[in-house]
Amino acid sequence: MEETKKGMDSLWNDIVQQVKMLLPTELERNRMDRFFPLMHSPKLDGNLYVIEVGEQIQVEMFANLYSKLILEALQTFGINVDEVRFVVAKDVPALQQQPKYRHAYQPTPQRGVPSTMPMHEHYTFENFVKGPSNSFAHAAASAVAKGPGRTSYNPLFIYGGTGLGKTHLMEAIGHYVLEKHPEMSVCYITSETFLNEYVNALQNDAMQAFRERYRKVDLLLLDDVQFIAGKNQFQEEFFNTFNSLMGLHKQVVMTSDVAPKDLKGCEERLTGRFQQGMVVEIESPSYETRLAILKSKANAARHHIPDDILKFIAENIRSHVRAMEGALNRIVTFVDLNGDIPLTLEITQHLLKDSIEEEKTIKDLTVDEIMRTVAQFYGVKMDDILSKERTQTLVTPRQVAMFLSCKLTTRSLVEIGRSFEKTHATVYHGAQTIQKRIDVESDLRKTVENITSQLGRNPSELTK
Ligand code: ADP
Ligand code: MG
Repeated sequence: MEETKKGMDSLWNDIVQQVKMLLPTELERNRMDRFFPLMHSPKLDGNLYVIEVGEQIQVEMFANLYSKLILEALQTFGINVDEVRFVVAKDVPALQQQPKYRHAYQPTPQRGVPSTMPMHEHYTFENFVKGPSNSFAHAAASAVAKGPGRTSYNPLFIYGGTGLGKTHLMEAIGHYVLEKHPEMSVCYITSETFLNEYVNALQNDAMQAFRERYRKVDLLLLDDVQFIAGKNQFQEEFFNTFNSLMGLHKQVVMTSDVAPKDLKGCEERLTGRFQQGMVVEIESPSYETRLAILKSKANAARHHIPDDILKFIAENIRSHVRAMEGALNRIVTFVDLNGDIPLTLEITQHLLKDSIEEEKTIKDLTVDEIMRTVAQFYGVKMDDILSKERTQTLVTPRQVAMFLSCKLTTRSLVEIGRSFEKTHATVYHGAQTIQKRIDVESDLRKTVENITSQLGRNPSELTK
């Protein structure tokens, strides 16, 4: 009995890894990291693969998101079942008892409860390493945590690239406030989930309840607001929620991957409001900060990793903290499995070979930078690139910018489309058109290569 359970658990771990690989965007992988700990006791039951969850709402949501992918993953391990089924089980702990996460708000029926997502338990101020790249954001966040709604930092808007600690800092505020003021209602939610709830409320004629719920929140932590770009109707609703919270002196904290003024497809009155409190940026950490973060993570994992190994990681993995954590995890796993082999620099180099390769080709340009450079090169305005005007003098620069965005960034077509205020199909078509043209038009090819160099990148990347 124990044997099979162990077997099932390890199969489940493999499945989780496999599903993660099948997910196309970072957003979805992040979401999965939050959701998978909520699934329990996966087991084969005849032609079914059954997974237990705590609530009915999870049954539908997880079935939608993951059933097919899990089925595919099972097949890759040679297991054919007809269906992956989520079921509610009484003994599955409710959300807030998950070991790695802490529920932001314990529902008390009297107050009308906002939906909230679990927060990472270790995303606290104590575990956040300060450095020049984040000191301003850190200071603002701690001020807000100490006096939610009572500082001029309302709303607090934290922006910066992926994996630089925005979510960590935001959840740290949540943990701190909950600890000092357990009576306060804290709601942590990603914009994507917030939007989904809004859509559900619309469909179920439950707008009144939706509004009341969110307007009772004392601290609203809204993660990844760039997601609301282009969703006009939702923006309207959000604007109202936001204004009523502000009117009641409730605290709002938001994160985004770009500054408010660069939130494309977002109404100006909204981005204007976002800038009325405090806007802070988190930048890429310096070498010293990277090393300090690694030391703190190694300590937290209760592993002694020699300094020269940590230095090697800090020197070689520079793109973002999450990548560095991944590298450290690989080292820690090696030490766990091979306690008797001394960890050398050679072994480290070998273990991190792929990550280091990846760092070298890291595609850190933004679609915005590309559009700006292309516009400048052709002597047209940014607005022209974003317009729907179809004269050839505008179509070519626009399509060149689309082509370069596909080649030089890791953004998905959908994301690129959002930046261009166009559909992913338009971006795909634009990029294809330029690809075909540069094969035969050497002038255009030279132009595109020149722009690529101007962007600080190697034109040979265009042929990959
Ligand atoms: P973002 O939301 O900006 O994409 P996260 O907050 O998810 O990034 O951070 C990614 C990972 O890096 C997390 O595990 C987080 O704990 C870690 N991290 C980022 N910055 C720091 C820091 N200054 N100190 C400690 N850990 C950090
Ligand atoms: Mg985040």
